[in-house]
This record gives sequence, C-alpha cells and structure tokens, in this order.
Amino acid sequence: MRTVRQYEHDVNQKSCNAVIQRIFKSEGGFFLVADRTVFFPEGGGQPGDRGIVRPAGTCGADITIIDTLEKDGEVWHRLADEADGEYDSAGFETELAERGFVPGAEIELVLDWTHRFDCMQRHLGEHILSGAIYRLFGGVNRGFHMGEDCITIDIAFEDETITGEFVSDGALEKGAVSEAVGMPHRSGYTKMTWEMAEAAEAEANRVIQQDLPVTVSYFETQEDAASMPLRKAVKAETDVSVVTVGDIDSPADCCACCGTHPDSSGQVGLVKIYKIEPNRGMSRIYFECGMRAFTAYQKHFNILYELENELSAGDNDVLAKFEARIEKENSLHRELTALRKKNVERETAALLSNGCAGVHVYDDLTADDLRQTAKKISGKFTGFAVLVSIAGLAAVLVSDGSADCGFVVKEQAAPLGGKGGGNRSTASCVFPDKAALDEFIRRLG
Ligand SMILES: [Zn+2]
Repeated sequence: MRTVRQYEHDVNQKSCNAVIQRIFKSEGGFFLVADRTVFFPEGGGQPGDRGIVRPAGTCGADITIIDTLEKDGEVWHRLADEADGEYDSAGFETELAERGFVPGAEIELVLDWTHRFDCMQRHLGEHILSGAIYRLFGGVNRGFHMGEDCITIDIAFEDETITGEFVSDGALEKGAVSEAVGMPHRSGYTKMTWEMAEAAEAEANRVIQQDLPVTVSYFETQEDAASMPLRKAVKAETDVSVVTVGDIDSPADCCACCGTHPDSSGQVGLVKIYKIEPNRGMSRIYFECGMRAFTAYQKHFNILYELENELSAGDNDVLAKFEARIEKENSLHRELTALRKKNVERETAALLSNGCAGVHVYDDLTADDLRQTAKKISGKFTGFAVLVSIAGLAAVLVSDGSADCGFVVKEQAAPLGGKGGGNRSTASCVFPDKAALDEFIRRLG
C-alpha cells in the first residue's frame, strides 16, 4: 500500500500522527512502515529525512530515525540501533513492543527540520541555478549530486528536443533568443566559462530575492505533464510532479522532480558557485546554497580578513600586495641562490688548495651546498674528505676510492641514528641531533 506523504500537500509540516503498519528487519537494520508520514524517502538526488518516532501522546520514549527510503510505494523509516552494536533481533523487537511500537499502534513522527530544510534549500537552489543556466545559455542539467561538501551539476550544451509545448529549435546563433514555446533560452555555447557562471549565479540570486512562489503540479502521465513549460524532458511515465518557480507563463524554472522544496524561492537565501571543471564533455559546476553558502561566506571572509591584516591591505589591493610579496620572495630566492653558489665556489677553491682530505666543519653551509662542493672536488684529490654542515646536521663524504664512503656511513653513522647512504666514492647522511653529529665527527677525526 502506498504510504500517504504529507509533504506532497504541505512541505512545511514537521510532524504527523500515524498508525504503524509493520516493523521488520531487513538489509541495513530495523524499519518501520506507517500509513502516513512527513518523512521524505531518499530519491531524485535528495537524501532521506531523519528525525524521531514516539508513541502518540508521549515524550521521552523516542526512537531515532536515521534514514528514510522507498520500496514499492512504501516509505521505510530506518530505526537507529540505540544499543550501538549489532541488532539483536529478538531483543530489539521485544524492546520495541514494550515501548508501544506494535502494528496498529498510533505514533507521532517528528522531522529533524534542520536537516530537511537544508536539503530543501539545496534542492531548490539547484533548480533555480539550472533554470538560470538554461534560460541564459541553453545549458541542460544532465547530472546532479548533493554531496556533504558541495552540490554538483553537469551542464551539457547539446540540443535536445522536448515533446509537447516546449520545442527546442536546433542550433541558434550564439546569444540569439529562442522563439520556441516554453522557457526562452539562448544557445550556441559549448561550455560554461567563469563569466557565464557569474552571470548565472547573479540571475539565480535575483530569482531568490524576488521571492517567487514555488508550486508543485501533479500529473497522472508523462503526456499530461508535457503541457508544462519544462526545461528538460520528463523521465517518469506516470505520477509526474512538476516543480515551477514563479509564474507558469514565464517561469524562472520548470522541471519534473519528486523531491521537497521550500514554497517560495526566497527561502533558498543564497546560491554561490565555487568552481567549474570539464567532465565527460560537459561542464561540472560546484556550488552551495542556503545556510551552507552563508557559512562558507563567513569562513572565506575571515580568511580574507586575516590575509588583508597580514599584508596591510584592503579588498582593492590585497591581490596586488600578495603578488608583490611573491615577487619579493622570488627575488630573495635568486639572491640567495647566487650567494650560495659563490660560497660553494669559495669553499671548493679553499679545499682544493689544501688537498681536501680530512674532516671539515662548516657552520653556515647547508647539506645541499656541501653536496655541490663534494661534486666539484670529487676526482681532484687524494684520500678521504668529510664535509660537515652544522646547520643541516649532515655530513657529506667523498673519497678517491681508498675509503668506501657508503660503508663508513653504514658502519659509523647508522649506529648513531644517521640516515643516508651512498657508494664507494661519495655518500651523505643526516643525524637526529647535534650530539650524534659531534660523535660522528669525533670517531672520524
Ligand atoms: Zn527538486
């Protein structure tokens, strides 16, 4: 028996009384089915509702509903496993019965309204943005995902023919307005650019600010629904619900959808696009709506505020000041590289003039500087040299082959915690602390 769905008549109804039809175990836990519900079952890209169920007229005997889904017309409310472990079928059923949850009993179903309203804001925001993209550019929404972090839609620019009142009219000049019956749109585009996304989100926010009515019309068949000014063909063959934003003669959007939506566009609050990327020949748009978009704005504003303080900048010059700092950093890096090169050349000359062999300790040269130095002296002296970087807690070994550098690292450095290695003619290692490095120097000195 099809569960009566209160949200089809009043999307703002937050609770209802109902009669339990059955309680049963199935894949994923225990489920409750009642004759009616305010809970929306997962579908059309919208997650299932959450909330609580309790015996009618009581409080404090609540059981949490963690998810809602649909099976063969029935709405299944998934009950939380409050023992927080494996369901013990017999035990849980007994407990439910003792608490008054038996077939025929009257219950009260209460929505987690915060979760539901969040879903509704996001769902309607998706309609409004898709409608704006269609009207402005002729882009058709071919995929929709409501994720934890953001919503995505995949926009395609191929022409589509919709049977019924709306007729897509083949290739239009870029920017030309379709004369077809139904929602006017422009075509001739191939992908969404950031400028197009900004225009679409501005249009979507205008629709939100106009606080247009959102109406749901029910049709028995696909053919009946085709009388509506739809922006995309209807997939369902029977029981079609069509969601219209604004006036039916010139809607901001009109699309078949089984989800729940606020009854006016203003309740969406805000739509903000985050990024666009190519996806299988389409443009994937990442965006957020409602309270989530607002919360993201707060977070991003705080980051920008910190950055502006750090750079002593305002909105107008923060990017220029940031770029100037990067340029300064690059310039310093170039200077540093030149100085280090000079250091390496100076130390190389000093070593070669003294025969190189022995232990040489440097306070200010890095391990990388010493590796460069080792390369330059390699093959140009007789014996075994150890170059030590105090700053880098590192040693670079270089030899004419009379001593095996890799073997020395393995035998003398590794037991002190030194990490590294090499071959007979050169090797390097890094020590965990100054004491280990000093001990290494002492052993080789
Ligand atoms: Zn929808």
